[in-house]
Order: sequence, then structure tokens, then C-alpha cells
Amino acid sequence: MTQRGVRRAILIGGGIAGPVLGMFLRRIGVEATIFEAREAPAENEGAFLGIAPNGMNVLADLGVAEAVAARGAPFVGMRFENARGRRIGEIDQREAARRFGAGLVMIRRGALHAALAEEAVRRGVGIRYGTRLTDVDRSDPREVVARFREGGEARGDVLIGCDGFRSRTRVCAVPDAPAPGYTGLLDFGGFARCPGAPVEPGWSAMVFGRRAFFGAFAAPDGEIWWFHNGAEPGPGEPGRGAAAGRGAAAGRGAAAGRGAAAGSVRERILALHEGDSAWIADVVRATPEVLGPWPLHDILTMPRWHVGRVCLIGDAAHATTPHAGQGASLAMEDGMLLARCLRDEADPEQAFAAFERLRRPRVEAIVRAARRTGDRKAVAGPVAEWLRDRMLPLFLRLGAAAQERAYAYRIDWEARAA
Ligand SMILES: Cc1cc2nc3c(=O)[nH]c(=O)nc-3n(C[C@H](O)[C@H](O)[C@H](O)COP(=O)(O)OP(=O)(O)OC[C@H]3O[C@@H](n4cnc5c(N)ncnc54)[C@H](O)[C@@H]3O)c2cc1C
Repeated sequence: MTQRGVRRAILIGGGIAGPVLGMFLRRIGVEATIFEAREAPAENEGAFLGIAPNGMNVLADLGVAEAVAARGAPFVGMRFENARGRRIGEIDQREAARRFGAGLVMIRRGALHAALAEEAVRRGVGIRYGTRLTDVDRSDPREVVARFREGGEARGDVLIGCDGFRSRTRVCAVPDAPAPGYTGLLDFGGFARCPGAPVEPGWSAMVFGRRAFFGAFAAPDGEIWWFHNGAEPGPGEPGRGAAAGRGAAAGRGAAAGRGAAAGSVRERILALHEGDSAWIADVVRATPEVLGPWPLHDILTMPRWHVGRVCLIGDAAHATTPHAGQGASLAMEDGMLLARCLRDEADPEQAFAAFERLRRPRVEAIVRAARRTGDRKAVAGPVAEWLRDRMLPLFLRLGAAAQERAYAYRIDWEARAA
């Protein structure tokens, strides 16, 4: 055992950061137990996500990349279209594996959770489902105590909040942290068989509709995995930010959302894509169950990520919108780097400080970039649409450098953290 003073770690949350951190902690000889609020591993949990090369490289270091890739599908690129179906840009990822050491993988969220949980358990990480953290007791400087809604408590040398953007750990341990802000975009998704959809397997069609954004990935078997981002007030969320609070499109989107509120979610989405390429409506109609909504939130910055024996990672520390396709991969990187810091630093507080210092610039830059991309998804009328269609290739070129930096990032496990 290399780390001093850390033998038992309490991990709150078994989404993405939790199991990845747990596996790296096992590697350094720390006993790791995940406490997850869900009742069971959610194999069929909603929607899907993309894992970027930097995330896949973390999984490769752990030896779980193949298990994850086997449950997902290679993602080879995106083609952007305007509402009338005119191609306005493309990002080709076919060279990613050669350039960054790993390609991109698209995977259903439930399948990713199941793969990570299975691998974590196989490596000796404990997972307790149906335990929701309610309180963190830091009164004894020698340990930290977690208390759960279902009763009972757990004691550890450290407690790591891997509990996502609505982190209870954050509320308990860093009460001056800002709450995640609603960006004004509401996300829905689904899986459909729609043979007429003009998307090639492995590619995503990304459509800037007149009122809302639509993305459709074609899996190798032809199934369409889609998402929709509309500028609407979230359930119980005040609108905020460029996507919701400003601009005519935001007003149109919100109005459409309200106007159709009495109808089904499907009707609402169809209304927001009225007049866009017809295949979008075909996909939405062919979807057995529309999943969501997920109101998209982020936290641009936090005063601190750790206090005493408690540290936040993943979305709990730096919640991001999906628009940069990096939230999951950043959560994986966090797990690896935090374990390395705990291995190398003299005590947990120093490890957490080193972790935050090493991570903050990268993750905050990506969270900001994701926010900017999201803000471009809701455009304000025909003039802005005309301009966006012409400017998009430039934005894609400018964004390419940042994307390369994000993809090329590698953590050297053998290097010392300090
Ligand atoms: C619609 C949508 C699409 C996205 N698409 C992408 C994408 O394509 N690519 C990408 O990289 N990112 C994407 N993201 C972002 C990505 O999902 C997150 O950044 C990522 O899941 C963060 O991982 P995490 O482990 O920190 O948190 P989560 O994955 O949110 O896991 C947190 C876990 O903590 C548990 N939990 C919460 N509270 C408690 C509690 N009190 N006690 C115990 N357990 C608790 C939850 O049940 C959950 O299992 C998307 C997000 C959304 C909403």
C-alpha cells in the first residue's frame, strides 16, 4: 500500500466517476465502497452518450476499454445540416484511433453503467445499491462518516462525491458552492427503427432546426439513437442563459413548449421540429418510448472541490452540458488522476489540493466551451440562421484545435502527481 493514511474510501455515486475511481483505488490497495442511490444497476437506463478518445484511453489503462466498446458502437463522425437538410459542416473522426490512441464510442448509458459496475465488482470494489447519502459528518478529524436516507452509516478515511450534478456531497461539504445552473435547453431522446432516416451507420446527423436542435446517430444495425435539444423552461427551472433567456428563437421555443404542454412530449417535440427536414418527425414518430426530459445544467466554476477528507469529482465538481461530448470522459480522467494523487501525496488534503490544481484549468475550459456550443443551438430568426450556416465551418475549424487538445490529453499513471 503506497498511500499514507488512506485505507478505506467511501464513494458516493456509482455512475461513471465512481466505478472508475473505485477500480483505480483498488489498484493502489485502497478498500473502496460505492454507495449508489439507485436500487440496481440500470441496464436499460435512458439514452446514450459518446465516450471520447481521452475517456477511452483511461478505460484502456484500466483494461476495461474492450468490455465497454463491445457494448457500444464506433462513432466515426458528425454531419451538420440546417433545417432544410443542406449540409453545412462535418467533423470526421475516422482518424481518431490512429491520432489519439483510441476511437470514439457511442454507448447506451445503461450499458456503460452495467459494464463499469461489473468490472469494478470483479476487481473488488464494493457497490451498495439503494443507499442515498443524506449527510456527511466531518466532526472527527481522523475519519469521515456518511449517513444514508435508508438508515445506517459508513466510516472512511476519505469520502469522494461522485454523485453527479445534483451532488448531495457538494451541498453537505461545500455549502458555499453554487447550485448548478439550468442552461435553458431541455433534452429528450430515444431509440427508433426508421429505415428512411438519411444517416449512415457510425455517423451522426446534427440538425440545426428552425426552433430546436436534433441529433441522430445510426448504430451498426441501423437503429437510430436520437436526441433533441429545445429551448424551453425546464420542469421547475427558471430559464437562464443565451439559449433560453435571450433571443427570439428562445421565445419561440419556450412558447411552443408551453403551447403544447397539454399534449404529449412526442407532440411537443414534433411541434418544435415542424418545417424541419421531414425525416426528423419520422424518427420521433417511430420511437416506441420518448425518454427524458433532462434539463441541461452546468457549473462554470466552483470556489473549491475539497474540504478536509471530502473531495468532489466528475459532474459533482464540474457539471457540464453534453455539447462538448466530454462530461463522461472528464469523470473518467478525474477518477484516474485522483487515485494517482492519493497514491503519491502525504495525506488526503494534499492529494485533493494537487488533484484540484492539476484538473481545474482543463475541465473549466471544457465546461465553458460546451456552454458556448449549446448557446449556438438556439438561433434567433432567419438572419441569425443565415449567418450561422455561413459561420459554422469557421466555428468547426476554430473548435477543432480545442477538440484535439481534449482528445489528446493522457494521464501517465507511472508519473508522480506532485
Ligand atoms: C442527456 C445527456 C446527454 C449526455 N451526453 C454525453 C455525451 O455524449 N458524452 C459525454 O461525455 N457526456 C455526456 N453527458 C454528460 C455525462 O452524462 C456526465 O458528465 C457524466 O455522467 C458525469 O459522470 P458522474 O459519474 O460524475 O455523474 P453521474 O453519471 O451523474 O453519476 C452520479 C451517480 O450518483 C448517484 N447519486 C446521486 N445522488 C446520490 C446520493 N445522494 N447518494 C448516492 N448516490 C447518488 C446517481 O444515481 C448516479 O448514479 C450527457 C448528459 C446528459 C444529461
